[in-house]
Amino acid sequence: MKWSLKIGRWWGVDVQLHVTFLLLLGVIGLQEESLRAAISGMLLYVCLFACVLLHEFGHVLTARHYGITTRDITLLPIGGVARLERLPDNPRHELAIAVAGPLVNVALGGALAAFLWLAGRSPIPSAALDAFSFAQRLFVVNVSLVVFNLLPAFPMDGGRVLRALLAMVLDPVRATRIAAGVGRFMAVVFAGVALYYQMYVLLFIAVFVWLGAGGEARATEVRAVIGGAVVGQAMQTRTASLASHDSLESATQRMLAGSVPELLVLHEDRVVGMLVRDDLLEALKRHGPGTPVAQVMRTDLIFLDAAEPLEPALLRLSAAGVPAAPVYWQGRLVGVFRPDAAADILALRRAQAAADNRPPVIPRTQPSGESR
Ligand SMILES: [Zn+2]
Repeated sequence: MKWSLKIGRWWGVDVQLHVTFLLLLGVIGLQEESLRAAISGMLLYVCLFACVLLHEFGHVLTARHYGITTRDITLLPIGGVARLERLPDNPRHELAIAVAGPLVNVALGGALAAFLWLAGRSPIPSAALDAFSFAQRLFVVNVSLVVFNLLPAFPMDGGRVLRALLAMVLDPVRATRIAAGVGRFMAVVFAGVALYYQMYVLLFIAVFVWLGAGGEARATEVRAVIGGAVVGQAMQTRTASLASHDSLESATQRMLAGSVPELLVLHEDRVVGMLVRDDLLEALKRHGPGTPVAQVMRTDLIFLDAAEPLEPALLRLSAAGVPAAPVYWQGRLVGVFRPDAAADILALRRAQAAADNRPPVIPRTQPSGESR
């Protein structure tokens, strides 16, 4: 994530801190009247985020148990985000991963309550500024983390728990739709409460939940569509190409004529590079229209086979940050695969196959080479 500082690596996962977190820490420190209160306030805030971090590791380590790795964890002022490499397909695994985070806070809260109980204190925070009041506040922090995270709304853990429970009896797309609907309803309730009581932080959360519900529903639908498909079913069969010695000017003409977002650069019938629209615009500004394509083209290509499974291919391209990839079938160039268009093409091809009442097949068209 942008504007994040790496603060460490635990259990093999990088932990990043968003800079806004430090700003908020400063604001908390400056709000207090005495230095002691400022230090105590900042320390509580740091401990709060240590609890959030342990919560995220609850998710991460449970996911690892099911063979899912995590790219990194980022701590934002609104909470932690663990970027899992993928979501589990098995609803039982999803349930376990979702519940593991809040369970960490249940354990921390339980330990703090036991400590206070042994010391003869109540877990309800007192006004006194001592070690006990600190433990009391941290107890309340952990209880709120459990309650807040178990609200049945995406992207909160409770939303995933609800979806996993529904997915045990319904198909995953319907389960996600219902869970997303509940999430949107919660968002509206949050927004109403926020406006009535003028709690603007809650309004911010309402927006976050509303967007999270929509994003989650879309992601699941895309996964349901692409599950079991191969690259050849989701590629563009129309390609446009040019030779590596061609100029940027002819590249522009070729792109305009073909209305394609990328050009394959050929050398002796082999694809040696690619030029996407944004690269071309940038190169025209910097180097001028007479520059040969070979000088500015991308050479970090990923070649795909039309018969390889779609989902891992999408992951490979997104991990490499590559916008498109040439597709081969039995040694011949048959198309271009573009991740952002894949789901739409696949849906069209499936609809067409359903209309013709035959199973979808890998199209074996000739590469057009030239755009018509
Ligand atoms: Zn969580």
